[in-house]
Amino acid sequence: MDSDPQADGEGIATGAAPQTVALTLADDGFYHPASEDQLVALVKMANEQGRQIRVRGAAHSISHAIYTDPLGDLVNRVSWQTPPSGDNIDVMLDRYRGWRVKDEARKLVEADAGIHLGADPSDPTHTATLETSLLHQLWQSKGWSFSNLGGITHQTVSGFTATGSSGGSTQYSVNDNLWGFRVIDGRGEVHEVSLDDADADADQLYAMSPNMGLLGVVSTITLRCEDTFNISGQEAVTSIDGCAVDLFGPGDAQRPSLEDFLRDAEYTRLEWWPQRGAERVLVWQAQRISPEPDFKPVRYQEFTAHPDTAETFISLLYTVFGNLDDLSHARSQIARTFERVDTLLELMPELKELGRVGELLADFLSHGAEFGVDAAIELLKPVAGLIEDEIPVIFPKLLSIFIPLDADKSGSEKGQPQRFQDYAWQGLPMDNEADDEVLPTEFTEVWVPLPRTQQVMQLLNTYFTEPDDSHESYRRTGLYAWELYAAKATPLWMAASHSSGGDEFKDGVFRIDPYWFAGNPGDPSLTFYPQLWQLLRDHGVPFRLHWGKFQPASGPGDRGWVDFFAARYPRWNDFLALRAERDPNNIFLTSYWRDRFGLWSEPAPRRAGS
Ligand SMILES: Cc1cc2nc3c(=O)[nH]c(=O)nc-3n(C[C@H](O)[C@H](O)[C@H](O)COP(=O)(O)OP(=O)(O)OC[C@H]3O[C@@H](n4cnc5c(N)ncnc54)[C@H](O)[C@@H]3O)c2cc1C
Repeated sequence: MDSDPQADGEGIATGAAPQTVALTLADDGFYHPASEDQLVALVKMANEQGRQIRVRGAAHSISHAIYTDPLGDLVNRVSWQTPPSGDNIDVMLDRYRGWRVKDEARKLVEADAGIHLGADPSDPTHTATLETSLLHQLWQSKGWSFSNLGGITHQTVSGFTATGSSGGSTQYSVNDNLWGFRVIDGRGEVHEVSLDDADADADQLYAMSPNMGLLGVVSTITLRCEDTFNISGQEAVTSIDGCAVDLFGPGDAQRPSLEDFLRDAEYTRLEWWPQRGAERVLVWQAQRISPEPDFKPVRYQEFTAHPDTAETFISLLYTVFGNLDDLSHARSQIARTFERVDTLLELMPELKELGRVGELLADFLSHGAEFGVDAAIELLKPVAGLIEDEIPVIFPKLLSIFIPLDADKSGSEKGQPQRFQDYAWQGLPMDNEADDEVLPTEFTEVWVPLPRTQQVMQLLNTYFTEPDDSHESYRRTGLYAWELYAAKATPLWMAASHSSGGDEFKDGVFRIDPYWFAGNPGDPSLTFYPQLWQLLRDHGVPFRLHWGKFQPASGPGDRGWVDFFAARYPRWNDFLALRAERDPNNIFLTSYWRDRFGLWSEPAPRRAGS
């Protein structure tokens, strides 16, 4: 381990800027404060001038959950890097990324709100590197870590906690590492809440994650770390029948039910491909192992077949299949993948063996390599209808090339799952290597009580398999994977895995996370996700939704979904009461969050004194 740069309890220098700089709008449309004092000054300025103020983290949530109004300026998308126009205040904390040890014995670390958990490849300032990230520094200098991490670690510590994000485990959660928050309310007053407080005050900590940016600007977060650990694990790719987990049934002596598997596995997530003819499942699972001095990581590989081309080709495929109505509309996305067209050409022999559509895709690639993106698009336009008709036939064949079953591997690999071992900070976020720009992915994420797992899996399976028409079945499944995982129950007020102790959520939650390719046209909260939300609602499943991902669209006065979710959170009204107290001038309250909570009668921010 390296020496400890924080041993004296001082934060890493964050490049303090003069107050005037912090209060000046930068060319990128953001304010960039470098200290808590400067954050306070910004909040006071917003309050006095009657302007909204919001902070962005790594912008990995849908943009409407992050930025100020007018949200109509923005497409509601993940990874939206620029704020809306207008004179509200959007803040980026790239200059506020220090951390310090507060209590060595208890492993309490205070992190400034802008620090990222890991590297963020999409960070527009290019400063969120591995070396500046919290997890890497903690591991190197202290040998400390957190209980669990999400599937990626690009997020900031404040953005992750503001939406109640979570890794896949019913046994371990980073929520258990949360110890304290410093938060600046709408008047510019700093509040400190911590589990060191007396009981009633400590309860306030449970209000702070998720907070959706509605309880104030978070300045610092204190985490109680634990000794770092390593993980070892495996990923098996099997048919549904060949899976070691009974996906839809109650389980038997040979294999556990999905619910039991999620209870027993230390860390796990499944990727289910339910598309007709392509049905398969990837079961990633890992357990803790002690860190040994001569430990050598064997990294998990997300795409084992065609590792150099899989992501780019899948992106191209989704772009083409999703935009067959108007391929020109997807020109920029196609052009981005064509930057790597030379490597894609290696796939041509395999594509040509897939019949008429395979040949068309191979011609599309070679035409693009020779004549450019516009010529390639023109080539496909006349056959777009044919490709559309053939999707249920060609898709299973294409998936078998890029995500083959273990049983279809060759040589000594045949039938063998992929095995890996890694440092926890590097291995738990198994999707970190996926490229946000090549394969931009968006989500909705449903959280149901763990004992509902079988009911929900059966509902989905029936919904996908019942149509006689394959096109209808594909409309229901989409063309992307459905991630299935879990989270531990928590007393955090607004967490989607909140439990008050004796309710249905007390054993944790089962999470269903259907991926959506962001290069598809349209808004999935209007076109794709409503079927899932409505299916569960119609069948009386008491679900909650991830706060940073797509939620049902609703506008002023429309209480349908507001009341549905209000009934699912026992601390909903407590949260709203605290919000009103912390933000009396509604400077953190945007139209998106008004719609989520039904707060349409709250007045817009007023200039102080008016
Ligand atoms: C590829 C990908 C993989 C993902 N994997 C997972 C996963 O495994 N598990 C999971 O649960 N989620 C996952 N997510 C969701 C992600 O964790 C959340 O969207 C998270 O909030 C993003 O953090 P961020 O730093 O990007 O914050 P942002 O998205 O920028 O912001 C999130 C919220 O926090 C607020 N905020 C940020 N900083 C502050 C502050 N200092 N004070 C007040 N408010 C603040 C913002 O205004 C916004 O409301 C994933 C998302 C993507 C795109």
